[in-house]
Amino acid sequence: MNLPKKHSAADTTIFTVMSALAQQYNAINLSQGFPDFPIDAQLGNYLSEAAQNGWNQYAPMPGLPMLRNAVAKNFQQRHGIDINPDTEITITPGATYAIYTAFTAILQPGDEVIVLEPAYDSYIPNIEMNGGKVVPVALKAPTFEVDWDLVKAAITAKTKAIIVNTPHNPTGATWNKEDWDALAEIVRNTDIIILSDEVYEQLVYDGKPHYSVLQHPELRERSFALYSFGKVFHNTGWKIGYCIAPPAFTQAFRKLHQFVAFSINTPAQYALAAYLENGIQEPVNIMLQSKRDYFLGLMKETPFTILQPAGGSYFQLASYENISDLPDTEFAQWLTKEYGVATIPVSAFYSNRKDDKLIRFCFAKKEETLSSAVEKLAEIGTFQPNP
Ligand code: PMP
Ligand code: GLN
Repeated sequence: MNLPKKHSAADTTIFTVMSALAQQYNAINLSQGFPDFPIDAQLGNYLSEAAQNGWNQYAPMPGLPMLRNAVAKNFQQRHGIDINPDTEITITPGATYAIYTAFTAILQPGDEVIVLEPAYDSYIPNIEMNGGKVVPVALKAPTFEVDWDLVKAAITAKTKAIIVNTPHNPTGATWNKEDWDALAEIVRNTDIIILSDEVYEQLVYDGKPHYSVLQHPELRERSFALYSFGKVFHNTGWKIGYCIAPPAFTQAFRKLHQFVAFSINTPAQYALAAYLENGIQEPVNIMLQSKRDYFLGLMKETPFTILQPAGGSYFQLASYENISDLPDTEFAQWLTKEYGVATIPVSAFYSNRKDDKLIRFCFAKKEETLSSAVEKLAEIGTFQPNP
């Protein structure tokens, strides 16, 4: 039977490919972005408490009110932003779903969407699955800042949306206020909608703040902001996120959501709400920054080159140009098989598979995981099995 091809991406996402390869070769998995350290026991206690106390039936379609209220309160406390939990927040089964649903709500066939590359690998298939046309714009290596002139030049009468991501996967780059101002200037007097992927919002390092699209009143009116609890509470497998958008956008979003997912895992929503309400979590950026610094310190003993330390996210890019001139996908496979460390080749984040000889390491791991991995990487050069 001939089934239609819905998008142009690879058959299997690089995250699945590399995690499977890591398992096959018993390699340390620094590829797919997930922590290997435990969640706070209290969060787990709230989850069992919810199941035991009868929170086991469908939650309301937009999300448990207690969770939406807790999210609104949390934004007010952290950023001083007022968000209406009833009309502006929808709980979703992860941010990936929220991004897809936002695209589905706004796109019609032929609409163009500007994607800043390298980009998280679900954006382009999500746009194409909705009949949209991707217009890629390259970020400026090695800092991966936005070239606003290029963005401006990419806008046409068909531009429906721009998707942005800060802190950025895979580069770790973060936006400052001037970036948002530049974006606002470009979209002023247009109907262009912004999708702002802020899943790593609480993972910004070196004392810098995260600037959210929600803090920019002019942009907020035309934006979907997308979040994931997985990155904040180290529970990526819970797959719960949320979408914050103005009431009219939220209505359009929920019109789809009610017939695709309808509602989200109730006990997990209860647990997240209780955990947020009790405000017991330690700031996650302090812990992750120390992991980044530990990893960067260890990496000095290897032949990899760090272009610049990640300003945020779970990820650190490194160049292997001193080691090999293999294409990055082959290099990542070779590293997994021969040295037992799995990473992600950065070409997977470009629609044209641009290969800058960079790989992405996930440092959201226990220190012992990072040190065992880097111990193996440090052997490169002393022992090279046919690179
Ligand atoms: N956006 C970015 C930039 C990501 O790195 C990820 C990875 N998890 C997601 C969205 C998806 O988040 P979730 O697991 O909540 O779907
Ligand atoms: N966001 C994670 C990453 O970039 C993984 C998400 C996924 O596996 N789809 O590694």
